[in-house]
Amino acid sequence: MSTDEKTELLRHIRDEVVNLIGSPLYADRVKSGMYPVIGEGNHHATIMFVGEAPGRNEAKTGRPFVGAAGKILDQLLEGVGIDRKDVYITNIVKDRPPFNRDPLPEEIEVYGPFLDRQIAIIQPKVIATLGRFSMVYAMEKFNLQNVLRPISQMHGKTFAATTAYGEVTIIPLYHPAVTIYNNTTKDTLKKDFEVLKHYI
Ligand code: URA
Repeated sequence: MSTDEKTELLRHIRDEVVNLIGSPLYADRVKSGMYPVIGEGNHHATIMFVGEAPGRNEAKTGRPFVGAAGKILDQLLEGVGIDRKDVYITNIVKDRPPFNRDPLPEEIEVYGPFLDRQIAIIQPKVIATLGRFSMVYAMEKFNLQNVLRPISQMHGKTFAATTAYGEVTIIPLYHPAVTIYNNTTKDTLKKDFEVLKHYI
């Protein structure tokens, strides 16, 4: 797929999400004057990161991972020599859940198909999930539910899956936000990021 085609298809996704009046998070977004967060990065990226949902800073700017969790993600990327511009970063849920609560199943159901389309357009070789919601989503989407375990047993491991465009490797990672008050998890996440080096 050419760069132009990808850009056009991703624009459609953006327009649909902007006008997603059926979403349980739409009214809140409009009322608060915030933005949906579609995703950003290289449309030909080898690695796609999938987080959970935008937080306050993200919804204010329309950009993924620009707040506290984003700073940690930036450090982790830098630690393994990956340029943020070379990857694609998105979330399952594209609007901010109130008070940053966990996304609800019905929200994942509404926004999941947009993530599916982003994956089909960008065609990453690696999907690195950040946190348990995107891990569960990706494992189920790619028919790996039989090997799904708690994130404490999955993080840093690689799982091969087949897509319509070819092979993809799912790499579950802890969410950067959990490392804010937990240095042990931060060390674990740093170590897990090393796995990504094999794919760049
Ligand atoms: N946490 C997420 O899961 N996604 C963001 O974009 C920011 C924080």
